[in-house]
Amino acid sequence: MDNLNDQHLKSWLPSEAGSDFPIQNLPFGIFRKGVSSPHAATRLGNTVIDLFALAEHGFLDGLGIDPGVFNYSSLNPFIELGKPYWRSLRKQLALLFGSDNTEACGRIGSTNDILYNAAAVQMLMPVKVGDYTDFYSSLEHATNVGCMFRDPANALLPNWKHLPVGYHGRSSSIVVSGTAIHRPKGQTKPPDSDTPVFGPSKELDFELELAFITGKKTALGTSVSTADAEDHIFGMLLFNDLSARDIQRWEYVPLGPFLSKNFGSVVSPWIVTLDALEPFRVPGPAQDPEVLPYLRFSGSHNFDIQMEVFIQAEGQTEFRVCSSNYKYMYWNLAQQLAHQTVNGCNIRVGDMYASGTVSGPTPGSYGSMLELAWKGTKPIKMPDGSERSFINDNDSVIMKGYCEKPGLRIGFGEVATKILPAL
Ligand code: MN
Repeated sequence: MDNLNDQHLKSWLPSEAGSDFPIQNLPFGIFRKGVSSPHAATRLGNTVIDLFALAEHGFLDGLGIDPGVFNYSSLNPFIELGKPYWRSLRKQLALLFGSDNTEACGRIGSTNDILYNAAAVQMLMPVKVGDYTDFYSSLEHATNVGCMFRDPANALLPNWKHLPVGYHGRSSSIVVSGTAIHRPKGQTKPPDSDTPVFGPSKELDFELELAFITGKKTALGTSVSTADAEDHIFGMLLFNDLSARDIQRWEYVPLGPFLSKNFGSVVSPWIVTLDALEPFRVPGPAQDPEVLPYLRFSGSHNFDIQMEVFIQAEGQTEFRVCSSNYKYMYWNLAQQLAHQTVNGCNIRVGDMYASGTVSGPTPGSYGSMLELAWKGTKPIKMPDGSERSFINDNDSVIMKGYCEKPGLRIGFGEVATKILPAL
């Protein structure tokens, strides 16, 4: 078995057509069954596979992996082992669960603590996040926001095409899908007021993003080149960077977003490895003007990943408001990591680097309500007749992501969060 991405591979575990989790995916996450302790897991179709139990039963013998790394509340100890171990585990899982492995099918099938129905377990935060960076790497998003907040003639600031703009965010409030978030309160300055007011945000928004997780630490003072960047990346997940636009507009000059962004950021529970995304690698947009040498790269570092956002009002069905694609990103993940470390800033295992809002070129592909409803001037009509310029209390925001070509679909599942009224 040389090509784990071969679309013809099948598993003896059921995986219905259109599943995000065929045997070519094998993402990693942390789950808990009832009140038992959290374990690392992978997923195939609708089956969650307990990696600790799999190791304890001896199915992962020979990989040189201490089963204890799977008996933990985050993937960090496993990720720390390094890329050769991520790869050998993925290969072993593909062997164990391959459709022709009748022996493993019989032996694993006769245990009662390895396989679980995904609907019967709770997914937890997959990594312990040390540091978190949010980039701003979509040309379309930066242009749209620049048009609305500043001046259409000078939408992009002079630095934008020369470096991947970003800011250091906060890791304590990054939570897993299913976590509800209360509408934040804060200072805003209404346009018709000379002084700020305090209260619940009136412009609560989502930002459709993907984030990558670093899997290899560096020493303070060293840098990662674009050529080496992907060796430091474990995988990717969906990221909803909830944002309070009215708070942001008042607070963000001169140091960037602060309280408008750190009241809750929500991630999907399964980390999809770069290896699983390999068949969907595509070139990014041309970069003009040419970037400085440390940001130049060879090969393709963008990925063709469909991304969608749905809003589900209480008691209603989910309604798609946006359909975008990660392939539009102007700055790629190798450039982002090279820029993050070019000054000698060290990185650690489990750090999270969000892409920035993934907006495409057409109005239906904008990755935030700010852009979709164009600052409230073009509200979105919901199936129940109500309108949305931003997110209402008790709305759920659901993001989905997947790669697809004939015969192969690799998905991220979803990240869902319900917005509760301000406390
Ligand atoms: Mn963001």
